[in-house]
Amino acid sequence: MTGPEHSCGVVGAVADGDVMFHIHRSLNVIQHRGQESAGISTFLENSMRTVKGDGLVSDALNEEKMRGFNGNIAIGHVRYSTAGSKGDINAQPMVVDYIKGKVAIAHNGELTNHKELRAKYQESGWGFMSDSDAEIIAKILAKNLAQTDDPVDAMRAMMSELDGAYTLVILINDRLFALRDTYGFKPLCIGKISKGYMVVSESNAIDSVGGTFVRDVEAGEIVEILRDGVKSYPLEKPMPKAHCMFEWIYFARPDAVIDGREVYDVRKKIGMILAEEAPADVDVIMPIPDSGRAHALGYSIMSGIPYEEGFMKNRFVGRTFILPSQEEREAAVSSKMNPIKSTIEGKRILVVDDSIVRGTTLKILIKSLKNAGAKEVHVRVGSPPIIAPCYYGVDMKDRKEFIATKYSVEEIREIIGADSLAYISLEGMVRALEIPADDLCLACANAKYPTFIPGEAHRFQSE
Ligand code: 5GP
Ligand code: MG
Repeated sequence: MTGPEHSCGVVGAVADGDVMFHIHRSLNVIQHRGQESAGISTFLENSMRTVKGDGLVSDALNEEKMRGFNGNIAIGHVRYSTAGSKGDINAQPMVVDYIKGKVAIAHNGELTNHKELRAKYQESGWGFMSDSDAEIIAKILAKNLAQTDDPVDAMRAMMSELDGAYTLVILINDRLFALRDTYGFKPLCIGKISKGYMVVSESNAIDSVGGTFVRDVEAGEIVEILRDGVKSYPLEKPMPKAHCMFEWIYFARPDAVIDGREVYDVRKKIGMILAEEAPADVDVIMPIPDSGRAHALGYSIMSGIPYEEGFMKNRFVGRTFILPSQEEREAAVSSKMNPIKSTIEGKRILVVDDSIVRGTTLKILIKSLKNAGAKEVHVRVGSPPIIAPCYYGVDMKDRKEFIATKYSVEEIREIIGADSLAYISLEGMVRALEIPADDLCLACANAKYPTFIPGEAHRFQSE
């Protein structure tokens, strides 16, 4: 495993006037992208100031910490890390002091050459304070900035050193830049706000500050965000793209529009296609909240079978997925979801979830439905079986943990205790996405990687 940041959330804004409202509210809106830590950097009166802390935005950046913290140019970050790699030292933005000033970086993604870069620069004498990708990126950029007066040249040179997934929002003193790696793994879009502009991981944040969506940052594009517009430095020639399928399946909020496709609409279409590919003779369709809702609704619309809520989710219980042991995960899932008896008793139920990774969620919840009196429980899944690790920042790293690498669909059905089980086909999911398969990263489902990863197959490699 490399550095601790995964599918985080990033934001930046510049305006004629204070932008702290935009940054803080945006971080709240994209809180689902990371709950481990949050931070903001702003450049004011010739100095870079940063506040950050562990936990949710409401704690890490509470009223007290935000008091008097203003600025008309700023970047922000929420961090998702796996259990065990917490700590303020890894909180972002990562700020580096260099010969001509300060660089602050907010990063979403994961470098695949983190170890090599770290070793290379350690050999040349650099020290590192953290084990995060963001520190390496910030220091490489600072080195390049010391050598040229053109920040775009410095960023291009930095990009040629980095492999893997990185979406960056960068303050170089009083200038705001943003970029996506040439594959465009992680989302980033531009919005117009009052007297200025912003960039953020998900478009819903632009809506929430009363701004208007302008466009996505293109894969490989560098943009400078100015008060009165956006300066673009696109790739000179197009390169292969690889937008992460998991953003639409699970990660992003349903109201986000990413690379032209609304997450809710994709999920609903997946449900509709599932209803065609794997029909079921049942009384009622139920989502596994919250991530399976739109998928279940689509299934219900297409099949004409009524949609009901079968579980009440406790919103104050945190993520169960990253707890360290299987016992803890199972206990947490059952304390998080309580069945609603009247919709369950005596019914033949079809539950829809967005994905099966280890199988924990469904195993527990099917048992709970049966205990509540369900006659039959059938399962449909809104993504193909997850069979291969993600090296680009989604928290699915270990082949040994994936239930679908060890067992057939029939065996998984038996293990989770379902009366039937079907996943959407890869082709069906891509159809719902309405993005060409060649422009997507589907590696977790087909084990073909868009970048070269030692020991793994490349997506354009012949069989
Ligand atoms: P499982 O319980 O099978 O291990 O994981 C599947 C469940 O966890 C699904 O309900 C899905 O919404 C959620 N999930 C899938 N991927 C991730 C992830 O990367 N992080 C978190 N927190 N949850 C995930
Ligand atoms: Mg879920």
